[in-house]
Amino acid sequence: MVEVRPADELPPGRVPLALTSTPTKRGKPPRHFADLAPEEQVAAVTELGEKPFRAKQLATHYYSHLSVDAAEMTDLPQASRDALVAGLFPPLLTPVRTLEADAGTTVKTLWHLYDGVKVESVLMRYPGRATLCVSSQAGCGMACPFCATGQLGLTRNLSTAEVVEQVRSAARSLADGEIAGGPGRLSNVVFMGMGEPLANYRTVLNAVRRFVAPAPEGLGISARNVTVSTVGLVPAMRRLAGEGIPVTLALSLHAPDDELRNELVPINTRWSVDETLDAARGYFEATGRRVSIEYALIKDMNDHAWRADLLGEKLTARGRGWVHVNPIPLNPTPGSIWTASEREVEDEFVARLRGHGIPTTVRDTRGSDIDGACGQLAAEEAP
Ligand code: SAH
Repeated sequence: MVEVRPADELPPGRVPLALTSTPTKRGKPPRHFADLAPEEQVAAVTELGEKPFRAKQLATHYYSHLSVDAAEMTDLPQASRDALVAGLFPPLLTPVRTLEADAGTTVKTLWHLYDGVKVESVLMRYPGRATLCVSSQAGCGMACPFCATGQLGLTRNLSTAEVVEQVRSAARSLADGEIAGGPGRLSNVVFMGMGEPLANYRTVLNAVRRFVAPAPEGLGISARNVTVSTVGLVPAMRRLAGEGIPVTLALSLHAPDDELRNELVPINTRWSVDETLDAARGYFEATGRRVSIEYALIKDMNDHAWRADLLGEKLTARGRGWVHVNPIPLNPTPGSIWTASEREVEDEFVARLRGHGIPTTVRDTRGSDIDGACGQLAAEEAP
Protein backbone atom coordinates (compact mmCIF):
# COMPACT_ATOMS: atom_id res chain seq x y z
CA MET A 1 0.00 0.00 0.00
CA VAL A 2 1.10 3.52 -0.57
CA GLU A 3 -0.18 6.23 1.59
CA VAL A 4 -0.21 9.99 1.12
CA ARG A 5 1.02 11.69 4.23
CA PRO A 6 -1.00 14.62 5.49
CA ALA A 7 0.74 17.88 4.57
CA ASP A 8 1.21 18.89 8.20
CA GLU A 9 3.49 15.91 8.81
CA LEU A 10 5.89 16.96 6.11
CA PRO A 11 9.02 19.02 6.59
CA PRO A 12 8.61 22.61 5.37
CA GLY A 13 9.16 23.03 1.65
CA ARG A 14 8.23 19.47 0.73
CA VAL A 15 5.28 18.88 -1.53
CA PRO A 16 2.65 16.62 0.04
CA LEU A 17 3.29 13.73 -2.29
CA ALA A 18 5.76 11.71 -0.26
CA LEU A 19 4.70 8.12 -0.62
CA THR A 20 5.50 5.86 2.26
CA SER A 21 4.65 2.38 3.36
CA THR A 22 6.23 2.76 6.76
CA PRO A 23 4.04 4.01 9.58
CA THR A 24 4.55 7.60 10.62
CA LYS A 25 4.71 8.25 14.34
CA ARG A 26 1.20 8.60 15.59
CA GLY A 27 -0.52 9.34 18.84
CA LYS A 28 -3.41 7.49 20.36
CA PRO A 29 -6.99 7.89 19.17
CA PRO A 30 -8.92 10.25 21.45
CA ARG A 31 -10.57 8.60 24.42
CA HIS A 32 -14.13 7.49 23.71
CA PHE A 33 -16.98 6.24 25.85
CA ALA A 34 -16.64 2.78 24.26
CA ASP A 35 -13.07 2.51 25.60
CA LEU A 36 -14.43 2.58 29.12
CA ALA A 37 -15.62 -0.24 31.34
CA PRO A 38 -18.78 0.64 33.31
CA GLU A 39 -16.80 1.61 36.44
CA GLU A 40 -14.58 3.92 34.37
CA GLN A 41 -17.58 5.62 32.79
CA VAL A 42 -18.63 7.17 36.10
CA ALA A 43 -15.15 8.60 36.68
CA ALA A 44 -15.06 10.04 33.15
CA VAL A 45 -18.46 11.67 33.55
CA THR A 46 -17.58 13.24 36.93
CA GLU A 47 -14.28 14.47 35.51
CA LEU A 48 -16.37 16.48 33.07
CA GLY A 49 -18.23 18.02 36.01
CA GLU A 50 -21.39 15.95 35.58
CA LYS A 51 -23.35 13.85 38.07
CA PRO A 52 -22.37 10.15 38.26
CA PHE A 53 -25.82 8.95 37.17
CA ARG A 54 -25.25 10.54 33.78
CA ALA A 55 -22.93 7.62 33.01
CA LYS A 56 -25.84 5.20 33.00
CA GLN A 57 -27.87 7.54 30.81
CA LEU A 58 -25.02 7.76 28.32
CA ALA A 59 -24.56 3.99 28.36
CA THR A 60 -28.25 3.58 27.56
CA HIS A 61 -28.01 6.00 24.65
CA TYR A 62 -24.89 4.35 23.33
CA TYR A 63 -25.47 0.63 23.87
CA SER A 64 -29.28 0.43 23.88
CA HIS A 65 -30.18 3.14 21.37
CA LEU A 66 -26.86 2.91 19.48
CA SER A 67 -26.72 6.71 19.50
CA VAL A 68 -23.86 9.19 19.66
CA ASP A 69 -26.07 12.14 18.74
CA ALA A 70 -26.64 14.82 21.40
CA ALA A 71 -29.95 15.75 19.75
CA GLU A 72 -31.34 12.31 20.61
CA MET A 73 -30.34 12.49 24.29
CA THR A 74 -33.41 14.41 25.36
CA ASP A 75 -33.34 13.15 28.96
CA LEU A 76 -30.16 15.18 29.53
CA PRO A 77 -30.10 18.97 29.95
CA GLN A 78 -28.83 20.66 26.79
CA ALA A 79 -25.60 21.92 28.34
CA SER A 80 -24.73 18.52 29.84
CA ARG A 81 -25.47 16.79 26.57
CA ASP A 82 -23.16 19.01 24.61
CA ALA A 83 -20.33 18.75 27.13
CA LEU A 84 -20.64 14.99 27.48
CA VAL A 85 -20.90 14.30 23.77
CA ALA A 86 -17.95 16.61 23.02
CA GLY A 87 -15.88 14.99 25.78
CA LEU A 88 -16.79 11.33 25.38
CA PHE A 89 -18.03 10.78 21.84
CA PRO A 90 -15.30 12.15 19.59
CA PRO A 91 -16.03 10.99 16.03
CA LEU A 92 -13.56 8.13 15.57
CA LEU A 93 -14.76 6.66 12.29
CA THR A 94 -15.67 8.70 9.24
CA PRO A 95 -17.27 6.75 6.40
CA VAL A 96 -15.60 7.69 3.13
CA ARG A 97 -17.00 5.08 0.80
CA THR A 98 -19.60 2.32 0.89
CA LEU A 99 -19.99 -0.43 -1.69
CA GLU A 100 -23.00 -2.70 -1.96
CA ALA A 101 -23.44 -6.17 -3.40
CA ASP A 102 -26.05 -8.94 -3.24
CA ALA A 103 -28.96 -6.52 -3.74
CA GLY A 104 -27.83 -4.33 -0.86
CA THR A 105 -27.55 -7.13 1.70
CA THR A 106 -23.74 -6.95 1.67
CA VAL A 107 -22.29 -3.54 2.45
CA LYS A 108 -18.60 -2.74 2.70
CA THR A 109 -17.64 0.51 4.40
CA LEU A 110 -14.27 2.21 4.10
CA TRP A 111 -13.56 4.25 7.22
CA HIS A 112 -11.05 6.99 7.88
CA LEU A 113 -9.78 6.98 11.43
CA TYR A 114 -8.89 10.17 13.33
CA ASP A 115 -5.35 10.14 11.92
CA GLY A 116 -6.33 9.42 8.33
CA VAL A 117 -5.57 5.70 8.59
CA LYS A 118 -8.05 3.56 6.67
CA VAL A 119 -9.87 0.37 7.64
CA GLU A 120 -12.87 -1.52 6.31
CA SER A 121 -15.80 -3.43 7.72
CA VAL A 122 -18.32 -5.58 5.87
CA LEU A 123 -21.96 -6.17 6.84
CA MET A 124 -23.59 -9.32 5.52
CA ARG A 125 -27.28 -9.88 5.98
CA TYR A 126 -28.81 -13.34 5.67
CA PRO A 127 -32.32 -14.52 6.42
CA GLY A 128 -32.47 -14.61 10.22
CA ARG A 129 -29.06 -13.16 10.99
CA ALA A 130 -26.76 -10.27 10.20
CA THR A 131 -22.99 -10.52 10.56
CA LEU A 132 -20.45 -7.74 10.72
CA CYS A 133 -16.88 -8.53 9.73
CA VAL A 134 -14.69 -6.09 11.70
CA SER A 135 -11.09 -4.93 11.52
CA SER A 136 -8.88 -5.05 14.60
CA GLN A 137 -5.77 -3.51 13.04
CA ALA A 138 -5.02 -1.17 10.14
CA GLY A 139 -3.09 -3.50 7.86
CA CYS A 140 -1.65 -6.70 9.30
CA GLY A 141 1.79 -7.92 10.26
CA MET A 142 1.24 -11.61 9.55
CA ALA A 143 2.25 -11.43 5.87
CA CYS A 144 0.16 -14.35 4.55
CA PRO A 145 0.95 -14.18 0.82
CA PHE A 146 -2.58 -14.95 -0.43
CA CYS A 147 -4.25 -12.22 1.67
CA ALA A 148 -4.62 -8.65 0.41
CA THR A 149 -4.32 -7.16 3.90
CA GLY A 150 -1.22 -9.26 4.51
CA GLN A 151 0.52 -7.44 1.68
CA LEU A 152 0.07 -4.07 3.39
CA GLY A 153 2.10 -4.66 6.49
CA LEU A 154 0.89 -3.35 9.82
CA THR A 155 0.12 0.34 10.14
CA ARG A 156 -1.24 0.30 13.69
CA ASN A 157 -3.50 -1.37 16.20
CA LEU A 158 -7.03 -0.06 16.50
CA SER A 159 -8.30 1.12 19.87
CA THR A 160 -11.19 -0.59 21.66
CA ALA A 161 -13.58 2.18 20.70
CA GLU A 162 -12.46 2.07 17.06
CA VAL A 163 -13.51 -1.59 17.02
CA VAL A 164 -16.72 -1.10 19.00
CA GLU A 165 -17.72 1.86 16.82
CA GLN A 166 -17.63 -0.32 13.69
CA VAL A 167 -20.17 -2.57 15.38
CA ARG A 168 -22.35 0.14 16.90
CA SER A 169 -22.55 1.92 13.59
CA ALA A 170 -23.60 -1.22 11.69
CA ALA A 171 -26.11 -2.13 14.38
CA ARG A 172 -27.61 1.34 14.12
CA SER A 173 -27.85 1.17 10.32
CA LEU A 174 -29.68 -2.13 10.64
CA ALA A 175 -31.99 -0.83 13.36
CA ASP A 176 -32.79 2.24 11.26
CA GLY A 177 -33.78 0.08 8.28
CA GLU A 178 -30.93 1.40 6.14
CA ILE A 179 -29.92 -2.08 5.01
CA ALA A 180 -31.99 -3.94 2.41
CA GLY A 181 -34.52 -6.22 4.10
CA GLY A 182 -36.07 -3.77 6.55
CA PRO A 183 -35.17 -2.89 10.14
CA GLY A 184 -33.14 -5.61 11.81
CA ARG A 185 -30.70 -6.52 14.53
CA LEU A 186 -27.00 -7.22 14.32
CA SER A 187 -26.61 -10.78 15.60
CA ASN A 188 -23.01 -11.79 14.80
CA VAL A 189 -19.55 -10.24 14.80
CA VAL A 190 -16.53 -11.89 13.19
CA PHE A 191 -12.95 -10.65 13.55
CA MET A 192 -12.22 -11.50 9.93
CA GLY A 193 -11.60 -8.01 8.61
CA MET A 194 -8.20 -6.41 8.53
CA GLY A 195 -5.66 -7.47 11.11
CA GLU A 196 -4.71 -10.30 13.42
CA PRO A 197 -7.01 -9.92 16.43
CA LEU A 198 -4.82 -11.88 18.84
CA ALA A 199 -1.89 -9.55 18.03
CA ASN A 200 -4.02 -6.73 19.51
CA TYR A 201 -5.18 -8.88 22.37
CA ARG A 202 -6.18 -6.48 25.12
CA THR A 203 -8.13 -4.25 22.75
CA VAL A 204 -9.95 -7.15 21.15
CA LEU A 205 -10.86 -8.61 24.54
CA ASN A 206 -12.15 -5.27 25.78
CA ALA A 207 -14.20 -4.90 22.60
CA VAL A 208 -15.58 -8.43 23.00
CA ARG A 209 -16.61 -7.58 26.57
CA ARG A 210 -18.55 -4.58 25.26
CA PHE A 211 -20.20 -6.72 22.55
CA VAL A 212 -21.38 -9.45 24.91
CA ALA A 213 -22.36 -7.51 28.04
CA PRO A 214 -26.14 -7.09 28.22
CA ALA A 215 -27.43 -3.57 27.48
CA PRO A 216 -26.83 -0.95 28.74
CA GLU A 217 -23.35 -2.20 29.67
CA GLY A 218 -22.81 -3.57 26.20
CA LEU A 219 -24.50 -4.53 22.96
CA GLY A 220 -25.97 -7.79 24.25
CA ILE A 221 -24.60 -9.99 21.45
CA SER A 222 -24.29 -13.65 22.40
CA ALA A 223 -20.64 -14.69 22.93
CA ARG A 224 -21.12 -17.74 20.72
CA ASN A 225 -22.04 -15.35 17.91
CA VAL A 226 -18.70 -13.57 18.20
CA THR A 227 -15.89 -15.24 16.24
CA VAL A 228 -12.22 -14.48 16.81
CA SER A 229 -10.20 -15.66 13.82
CA THR A 230 -6.46 -16.17 14.22
CA VAL A 231 -3.40 -17.31 12.31
CA GLY A 232 -2.61 -19.34 15.44
CA LEU A 233 -0.77 -17.23 18.01
CA VAL A 234 -0.53 -20.12 20.43
CA PRO A 235 0.10 -18.29 23.75
CA ALA A 236 -2.76 -15.87 22.99
CA MET A 237 -5.06 -18.79 22.09
CA ARG A 238 -4.32 -20.30 25.51
CA ARG A 239 -4.93 -16.99 27.20
CA LEU A 240 -8.25 -16.57 25.37
CA ALA A 241 -9.28 -20.05 26.52
CA GLY A 242 -8.92 -18.85 30.12
CA GLU A 243 -11.00 -15.67 29.82
CA GLY A 244 -14.33 -17.33 30.57
CA ILE A 245 -15.95 -15.75 27.50
CA PRO A 246 -17.07 -18.56 25.18
CA VAL A 247 -16.50 -16.80 21.87
CA THR A 248 -16.09 -18.97 18.80
CA LEU A 249 -12.46 -19.50 17.81
CA ALA A 250 -11.55 -19.82 14.14
CA LEU A 251 -8.08 -21.03 13.22
CA SER A 252 -6.72 -20.11 9.79
CA LEU A 253 -4.89 -23.31 9.03
CA HIS A 254 -4.73 -23.51 5.21
CA ALA A 255 -2.29 -26.43 5.25
CA PRO A 256 -1.93 -29.54 7.43
CA ASP A 257 1.85 -29.84 6.98
CA ASP A 258 4.54 -27.49 8.24
CA GLU A 259 6.38 -27.30 4.94
CA LEU A 260 3.47 -25.69 3.11
CA ARG A 261 2.02 -23.82 6.08
CA ASN A 262 5.37 -22.12 6.70
CA GLU A 263 4.85 -20.52 3.32
CA LEU A 264 1.12 -19.77 3.47
CA VAL A 265 0.97 -18.64 7.09
CA PRO A 266 4.51 -17.51 7.94
CA ILE A 267 3.92 -17.43 11.72
CA ASN A 268 3.89 -21.23 11.42
CA THR A 269 7.69 -21.11 11.62
CA ARG A 270 7.16 -19.99 15.23
CA TRP A 271 4.31 -22.35 16.21
CA SER A 272 3.96 -25.51 14.16
CA VAL A 273 0.77 -27.10 12.84
CA ASP A 274 0.78 -29.63 15.69
CA GLU A 275 1.32 -27.02 18.41
CA THR A 276 -1.39 -24.85 16.88
CA LEU A 277 -3.89 -27.73 16.64
CA ASP A 278 -3.12 -28.68 20.25
CA ALA A 279 -3.94 -25.13 21.32
CA ALA A 280 -7.17 -25.23 19.28
CA ARG A 281 -8.14 -28.50 20.96
CA GLY A 282 -7.30 -26.89 24.32
CA TYR A 283 -9.67 -24.05 23.47
CA PHE A 284 -12.46 -26.56 22.92
CA GLU A 285 -11.70 -28.29 26.22
CA ALA A 286 -11.72 -25.03 28.16
CA THR A 287 -14.83 -23.52 26.60
CA GLY A 288 -16.87 -26.36 25.12
CA ARG A 289 -17.02 -24.34 21.91
CA ARG A 290 -16.42 -26.21 18.69
CA VAL A 291 -13.44 -24.70 16.88
CA SER A 292 -13.62 -23.70 13.20
CA ILE A 293 -10.71 -24.48 10.93
CA GLU A 294 -10.45 -22.06 8.01
CA TYR A 295 -8.94 -23.48 4.86
CA ALA A 296 -8.72 -21.32 1.72
CA LEU A 297 -8.59 -23.74 -1.21
CA ILE A 298 -5.82 -22.61 -3.55
CA LYS A 299 -5.49 -24.38 -6.87
CA ASP A 300 -2.59 -26.86 -6.92
CA MET A 301 -1.17 -25.39 -3.70
CA ASN A 302 -3.04 -26.91 -0.78
CA ASP A 303 -6.04 -28.63 -2.37
CA HIS A 304 -4.61 -32.14 -2.81
CA ALA A 305 -6.62 -35.13 -1.67
CA TRP A 306 -3.68 -36.31 0.45
CA ARG A 307 -3.69 -33.01 2.30
CA ALA A 308 -7.41 -33.44 3.04
CA ASP A 309 -6.60 -36.89 4.43
CA LEU A 310 -3.68 -35.58 6.48
CA LEU A 311 -5.88 -32.82 7.88
CA GLY A 312 -8.62 -35.33 8.68
CA GLU A 313 -6.11 -37.56 10.47
CA LYS A 314 -4.58 -34.73 12.49
CA LEU A 315 -8.00 -33.54 13.62
CA THR A 316 -9.43 -36.92 14.55
CA ALA A 317 -6.19 -37.80 16.36
CA ARG A 318 -7.19 -35.05 18.79
CA GLY A 319 -10.69 -36.37 19.37
CA ARG A 320 -14.11 -36.21 17.77
CA GLY A 321 -16.83 -33.57 17.82
CA TRP A 322 -14.49 -30.74 18.73
CA VAL A 323 -13.89 -29.16 15.39
CA HIS A 324 -15.37 -28.41 12.01
CA VAL A 325 -13.71 -27.30 8.82
CA ASN A 326 -14.70 -24.36 6.63
CA PRO A 327 -13.03 -24.63 3.26
CA ILE A 328 -13.38 -21.41 1.30
CA PRO A 329 -12.53 -21.00 -2.36
CA LEU A 330 -9.62 -18.57 -2.53
CA ASN A 331 -10.68 -15.03 -3.30
CA PRO A 332 -7.99 -14.01 -5.76
CA THR A 333 -6.28 -10.78 -4.78
CA PRO A 334 -4.77 -8.28 -7.21
CA GLY A 335 -1.33 -9.24 -8.41
CA SER A 336 -1.51 -12.79 -7.09
CA ILE A 337 -0.84 -15.73 -9.38
CA TRP A 338 -3.01 -17.99 -7.25
CA THR A 339 -6.59 -18.91 -8.02
CA ALA A 340 -9.38 -20.89 -6.42
CA SER A 341 -9.44 -24.66 -6.71
CA GLU A 342 -11.52 -26.32 -9.42
CA ARG A 343 -15.00 -27.28 -8.33
CA GLU A 344 -14.35 -31.03 -8.59
CA VAL A 345 -11.16 -30.70 -6.56
CA GLU A 346 -13.04 -28.76 -3.90
CA ASP A 347 -15.76 -31.43 -3.84
CA GLU A 348 -13.17 -34.18 -3.42
CA PHE A 349 -11.42 -32.27 -0.63
CA VAL A 350 -14.72 -31.86 1.22
CA ALA A 351 -15.70 -35.50 0.65
CA ARG A 352 -12.36 -36.72 2.06
CA LEU A 353 -12.74 -34.64 5.21
CA ARG A 354 -16.30 -35.87 5.68
CA GLY A 355 -14.99 -39.38 5.15
CA HIS A 356 -12.86 -38.83 8.25
CA GLY A 357 -16.00 -37.82 10.14
CA ILE A 358 -15.16 -34.10 10.15
CA PRO A 359 -18.17 -31.78 9.74
CA THR A 360 -17.25 -29.64 6.76
CA THR A 361 -19.07 -26.64 5.28
CA VAL A 362 -17.83 -24.66 2.31
CA ARG A 363 -18.03 -20.98 3.16
CA ASP A 364 -19.59 -18.61 0.68
CA THR A 365 -17.58 -15.83 -0.88
CA ARG A 366 -20.05 -13.05 -0.28
CA GLY A 367 -18.95 -9.65 -1.41
CA SER A 368 -16.09 -10.88 -3.58
CA ASP A 369 -17.24 -8.61 -6.41
CA ILE A 370 -16.77 -5.56 -4.17
CA ASP A 371 -13.49 -6.87 -2.77
CA GLY A 372 -15.35 -7.36 0.46
CA ALA A 373 -14.75 -11.06 0.85
CA CYS A 374 -12.30 -12.69 3.23
CA GLY A 375 -8.76 -11.61 2.60
CA GLN A 376 -9.62 -8.92 0.09
CA LEU A 377 -9.74 -5.96 2.41
CA ALA A 378 -7.05 -3.55 1.37
CA ALA A 379 -8.78 -0.23 2.05
CA GLU A 380 -8.23 1.27 -1.36
CA GLU A 381 -9.45 4.82 -1.73
CA ALA A 382 -10.71 4.76 -5.30
CA PRO A 383 -12.07 1.97 -7.47
N1 SAH B 1 -5.80 -12.56 10.92
C1 SAH B 1 -6.99 -13.34 11.10
C2 SAH B 1 -8.22 -12.72 10.47
C3 SAH B 1 -8.00 -12.48 9.02
S1 SAH B 1 -9.11 -12.68 7.73
C4 SAH B 1 -6.77 -14.72 10.52
O1 SAH B 1 -5.84 -14.89 9.76
O2 SAH B 1 -7.51 -15.63 10.85
C5 SAH B 1 -10.17 -13.98 7.95
C6 SAH B 1 -9.94 -15.21 7.11
O3 SAH B 1 -9.79 -14.94 5.70
C7 SAH B 1 -8.67 -15.95 7.49
O4 SAH B 1 -9.00 -17.31 7.62
C8 SAH B 1 -7.78 -15.73 6.30
O5 SAH B 1 -6.79 -16.70 6.20
C9 SAH B 1 -8.77 -15.76 5.18
N2 SAH B 1 -8.27 -15.22 3.93
C10 SAH B 1 -7.29 -14.32 3.76
N3 SAH B 1 -7.09 -14.07 2.46
C11 SAH B 1 -7.97 -14.84 1.79
C12 SAH B 1 -8.26 -15.01 0.41
N4 SAH B 1 -7.61 -14.31 -0.51
N5 SAH B 1 -9.22 -15.88 0.08
C13 SAH B 1 -9.90 -16.57 1.01
N6 SAH B 1 -9.69 -16.44 2.33
C14 SAH B 1 -8.72 -15.58 2.72
